[in-house]
Amino acid sequence: MIIEMKTSASEKEIQAVLNKIKALGFEVQLNNGKEHIVIAVLGSDTGDVDTQVFEAFSGVEQVLRIQKPFKLASLDFKKERTKIQIGDVEIGGKEIAIMAGPCSVESEEQLISCAKIAKANGAQFLRGGAFKPRSSPFAFQGLEEEGLKILAKARDATGLLIVTEVVSPEEVNLVAGYADVLQIGARNMQNYRLLEAVGKAKRPVLLKRGLSSTIEEWLMAADYILRGNGDPNVILCHRGIRTFDNSTRFTYDVGSIPVLRRLTHLPIITDPSHAAGKFYLVPDFAKMAIAGGTDGLIMEIHPDPQNAVSDGAQSLTFSDFSRTMKELKTLAAAVGRKI
Ligand code: PEP
Ligand code: MN
Repeated sequence: MIIEMKTSASEKEIQAVLNKIKALGFEVQLNNGKEHIVIAVLGSDTGDVDTQVFEAFSGVEQVLRIQKPFKLASLDFKKERTKIQIGDVEIGGKEIAIMAGPCSVESEEQLISCAKIAKANGAQFLRGGAFKPRSSPFAFQGLEEEGLKILAKARDATGLLIVTEVVSPEEVNLVAGYADVLQIGARNMQNYRLLEAVGKAKRPVLLKRGLSSTIEEWLMAADYILRGNGDPNVILCHRGIRTFDNSTRFTYDVGSIPVLRRLTHLPIITDPSHAAGKFYLVPDFAKMAIAGGTDGLIMEIHPDPQNAVSDGAQSLTFSDFSRTMKELKTLAAAVGRKI
């Protein structure tokens, strides 16, 4: 249930409504919108409470039920698109954010070379996994804290912001100590204890869509994080889903971008690399996302893809990345965006 307060509502009137919500045993979240304050009443049995309970309070404009199973991520709760400020970069505005880097942090030399190319071509973020959620337990699992230290060195050397994955609740504080954005991988989208833990860390979260999750499930996962952090700082990351078709690594559901726009205020970024699975598809996949309205791209690059420890087949060489970025800049301008 959401309660829209009148523009003229006083602090005292707002507080009276909040007290009532708490007295009824519900959770509360506030959206301090441009026009008015919206209060979300959250709980499994808000349906049992009559909207009149709140309509009776002075300062209340209207009381509505959120029909969707996701609440804080929904456009009902917050109508203006969310823009997330990270350092000097805003995600969700006119500018398309670019995140680039290797799948895994392998060495200082490898990462710094990626960082320099990313920076030179207009990226604002350096990606790279230090903790890797691999499908096989025998595959490379990441350099862990050593990888985080290398990421921090690359940030110092280039000024790029760092986006890196966290795979367990116990490691959230460690990773948040180095990262500017915490990545939740597709395999962990429904790891609810992990979502709660990143919700408590004061860092924006990049939430990838689960391999076989519906958009509703994805937005409910976002609610887990939003519930904890109070600020709407979740970035959804569209990265392809599993279907019967295996001609690409994942099916590139680029249509999910305009679908999400009608459901959520959260910014959306796109990962063409993991969907494509093949480097030669990545540039066209990236272009489709820009045409579809994405707020950013996260792409894998590598100095020597053939010898990468993970995801070499989908990693762009530096020269392919530079060429792709030039093309993306032209396309972004054509659709009224900027890279
Ligand atoms: C990654 O970004 O390297 C990764 C593991 O991606 P995903 O979680 O989308 O598979
Ligand atoms: Mn990868």
